[in-house]
Amino acid sequence: MEVVSPFLDGRDMIKEAGGDVFRLCYQCGTCTGLCPWNRVSALNIRRAMHEAALGVLNIEANDNWLCVGCNMCVQRCPRGVKIIDFWRSLRRIMVESQMVPVDLRRALSSIATDGNPYVGERKLRADFIKNIRIKPFEPTMEYYLFVCCAAVYDSLTQCMAQALVSLLEAAGLSFGAVAESEVCCCEAARKAGAEDLFQSCAQQNIETFKTAGAKRIITISPHCYWTFKNEYTELGADFEVFHYTEILADLLKKGRLKAKAEKPLKVAYHDPCYLGRHSGIYDVPREVLRAAGYDLVEMEEEREGALCCGGGSGRIWMDTKKGERFADIRVNQASAVGAQVLAVACPYCYANMADSIITENKEGILRCADISQLLKEAL
Ligand code: SF4
Ligand code: SF4
Repeated sequence: MEVVSPFLDGRDMIKEAGGDVFRLCYQCGTCTGLCPWNRVSALNIRRAMHEAALGVLNIEANDNWLCVGCNMCVQRCPRGVKIIDFWRSLRRIMVESQMVPVDLRRALSSIATDGNPYVGERKLRADFIKNIRIKPFEPTMEYYLFVCCAAVYDSLTQCMAQALVSLLEAAGLSFGAVAESEVCCCEAARKAGAEDLFQSCAQQNIETFKTAGAKRIITISPHCYWTFKNEYTELGADFEVFHYTEILADLLKKGRLKAKAEKPLKVAYHDPCYLGRHSGIYDVPREVLRAAGYDLVEMEEEREGALCCGGGSGRIWMDTKKGERFADIRVNQASAVGAQVLAVACPYCYANMADSIITENKEGILRCADISQLLKEAL
């Protein structure tokens, strides 16, 4: 084990990286008890806080890459310790020391060279966006539609962007994008410790939106939504941000989209961490599903207590071994309440749930579908 600079040096390093929140910790252990990792393996957050307070940073520990940023611990920590910031800072030290797992290194370097973490050519973003009929953005348009890298480069989740575009077109909304100048939002890259990469991508996107004259942005991913709203604004961004479910709920309310009839299909909605716990949006996606006529059922662990899909903070780009995948648990929870569809509102959730439906042998019993797809099927 490589221990970085015992005593004061370790503390100074993490402080410098922005994560000296450990000072507030009074070692109650609430976080360790709540962390979903402790259901499948072990992650002792309390101990990591204690070691940091002693100035001991184990920058070789694989555990440092486990946190998915689900916010369960932060939501309940009695001292308000921003535990996600602690892991982010620790990882920043690891990234700067070039101690990064190979799959994560590949994703980060793909963002640096091609603007996306999926090792896809830069021009594919513009090609895909053009192919699904998103027009070049003009300042007279109502919205700028920012398509998450996952919904461009992962063939499994491209359906999210395709379905959303059909719905926005059907509602007569005007929207566009400047795909050639966009890059990854870098929310997950920042949580994975790539601070410089986040800063440069954020500046590039902000410049793209500003130059285009975009004032209202729709995101597909709750991760893009959260970082635009909370982190880009700190860097000088000045625009309104909407998650696509908010736009769909509004279009349904105004009668610009109308569902045909009730469908006898049981749908369980999985709250994405960055839409739910991080942004407090729980009812809007459920309203869309009800307005679309579906029979909404609730799983164990919903809303504030929802179990993460396991894809945040860069984990989506890292392998998680069988037996440790939260999405496997979630898929079984959906089945346990008789759901026929597991509805998602995030590309990471989509990818993880769809995969777990196969590996948990639920194909033909349970289907993973995005809210846009379900609404489109209901029109
Ligand atoms: S819940 Fe907060 S105060 Fe308690 S051990 Fe965890 S970080 Fe420390
Ligand atoms: S944010 Fe979630 S995964 Fe990360 S330490 Fe907290 S509870 Fe565990």
